[in-house]
Amino acid sequence: SMASPALLMRVVASAYSVAEKAATIVRNVMSGGDLGIVEKAGPNDLQTKADRLVQMSICASLARKFPKVTIIGEEELPSDDVTEDLIEDGHCEEILKKPCPAQYTGIKEEELVIWVDPLDGTKEYTEGLLDHVTVLIGIAYGGKAIAGVINQPYYNYEAGANAVLGRTIWGVLGMGAFGFQLTEVPAGKHIVVTTRSHSSALVNECITALNPDAVIRVGGAGNKIIQLIEGKASAYVFASPGCKKWDTCAPEAILHAVGGKITDIRGNSFQYNKEVKHMNSAGVLATLRNYDYYASRIPNTVKESLVP
Ligand code: AMP
Ligand code: MG
Ligand code: MG
Repeated sequence: SMASPALLMRVVASAYSVAEKAATIVRNVMSGGDLGIVEKAGPNDLQTKADRLVQMSICASLARKFPKVTIIGEEELPSDDVTEDLIEDGHCEEILKKPCPAQYTGIKEEELVIWVDPLDGTKEYTEGLLDHVTVLIGIAYGGKAIAGVINQPYYNYEAGANAVLGRTIWGVLGMGAFGFQLTEVPAGKHIVVTTRSHSSALVNECITALNPDAVIRVGGAGNKIIQLIEGKASAYVFASPGCKKWDTCAPEAILHAVGGKITDIRGNSFQYNKEVKHMNSAGVLATLRNYDYYASRIPNTVKESLVP
């Protein structure tokens, strides 16, 4: 008889459907017209009704199915009961059919940590830059990001009425990543993607030192990893604190699943165990290919300004 699917594949298959439900909520809040914007740390650190509802939806849906998994979400919420209409109990059948990489077949619920960014790119969402927005569900085991789901609710939103709106990208280390066409930037082209709403003198100094052919400034950590895996940019460079573990976990798993690399600006890898500090204090450096080209050109003065 067929063995029942490994826990990791069941979690990824559920996270896929939970992220699709999340995307529907993100679109419904926007079309409803009332974003319910709240400032968290300040005007560049916002939360909307979509951030709140999606956080509840994802965390409650996954906790109901996988009660012993640790789930860490970006938003702090009142402990109100989550209404049933926010619960997603489905899963992606296609993911469930795929064999789990051998090194992950024995994982138990207690050993997983799920990092949730219910809406990445909130600032851009409030400004109508809708394709910058992603929903991020990252899955960590042994402190490493091993699987992830990135939903882009407004993918194709400017492509006309016949285009399918939204997409879900997912990946598992040792298996690969799916839901997009892996593309590399043409050889010899150096295109840096960075923040559009959280710049600083140091962020710009670091980019200038890399002497890129072009700089793309867009919102969202998830969106910037998509730029890397689709050949729009060759390096994601952010020499600043501000980005958190829920921003990088799902993107890291997907990027690593296709042979890319992400570290802080000093070259340290990120840890995702449940006790870890949330802030990626020493920034982000990520590439699909040629990581060393960028890492070797980051000035020591920039590295020394960022304390992990
Ligand atoms: P960005 O590239 O500016 O969209 O940032 C990527 C992620 O890190 C988003 O979730 C941002 O909200 C977060 N982030 C980066 N810098 C800051 C900051 N200075 N304050 C708050 N959040 C930040
Ligand atoms: Mg975020
Ligand atoms: Mg967020």
